Amino acid sequence: MDLLEKLCMAPGISGYEECVADIMVEGLKKTCDEVRVDGFGNVIGRRGSGNKKIMLAAHMDEVGFLVKNINKEGYLSFVKVGGIDDRVLYSQRVIVKAKKGDIVGVIGAKPPHLQKAEERKKVIQHEELFIDVGATSKKEAEKMVEIGDPVIFEPNYGILKGDIHYGKAVDNRLGCYVMLKVMEKLPKKLDATVYAIGSCQEEVGLKGARVAAYAINPDYAIALDTTLAGDTPGIKENESNLKIGKGPSITIMEASGRGVITHPKVRDAINKASKKAKIPVQIDVLEGGMTDAAIIYLTREGIPSGVISVPTRYLHGPSSVFNMKDVNNAVKLTLETVKNL
Ligand SMILES: [Zn+2]
Repeated sequence: MDLLEKLCMAPGISGYEECVADIMVEGLKKTCDEVRVDGFGNVIGRRGSGNKKIMLAAHMDEVGFLVKNINKEGYLSFVKVGGIDDRVLYSQRVIVKAKKGDIVGVIGAKPPHLQKAEERKKVIQHEELFIDVGATSKKEAEKMVEIGDPVIFEPNYGILKGDIHYGKAVDNRLGCYVMLKVMEKLPKKLDATVYAIGSCQEEVGLKGARVAAYAINPDYAIALDTTLAGDTPGIKENESNLKIGKGPSITIMEASGRGVITHPKVRDAINKASKKAKIPVQIDVLEGGMTDAAIIYLTREGIPSGVISVPTRYLHGPSSVFNMKDVNNAVKLTLETVKNL
């Protein structure tokens, strides 16, 4: 299994990132002078010892669920961890990461055939859905799972066509992959200290990056993440003009300004890097969505921050779609940017 596939297949909802952290530690140990895991669970790799400190951050967590209750008949109700659209849930296969091992489940609901006409028009809310693990009673289900067990979408990874791949947890194992590759390719002699952070709990409030940025106190920071592609039916050009395969994207602003507003110095460094290395880029102006950069730039006295991301279709769903060319170009772009900073 190649590294990106391994990252996407690994389980890691917010607060349960250990399996992904293990892969990150293993990868960073090959390229960093020092690798540690902080009290929050963030993986922190350091390379070099120059005066200038540059922080790269890629969140390790994925969206998922947590078992909330087991009913009389042995069905599980659940809460969502992170932002998931209720429309994608019905009939999906999930894995309950139970203490005794993986339990396969199918998300069920009252089937459309039995719904009244007006019921069918509405999206079934996640509170009305349940996970079917094949148990026939509460007692039986309790032998398999416990309340509080984390649940992920069933792992999947593959190729649609050519460079176009799909997978679970693409947000943000792509960022993790880009970061590991950048650390691999950094020049041996570098007049800076580069920190590579695999951050925890981004999807539930950008938490890991906050504590890591405080500890490191970098001069510059770049978040490596995914962003919404707008090249599928039903999305207008003015809603999103990003296309997969047309290059990584540079964020100018997130969440209409409530997220990061990329610092001009960082923006210049990324722009120069793209021109110098002739890497195609797209510009991302977002009305919704935030990344770790949104919290890093608010740390201490303000840390100039920016985002390099890979346009991705169907974010936060069971399978997201992206173009491998954008991933490889994101590696090159980040590498050049680090050199510029
Ligand atoms: Zn993300």
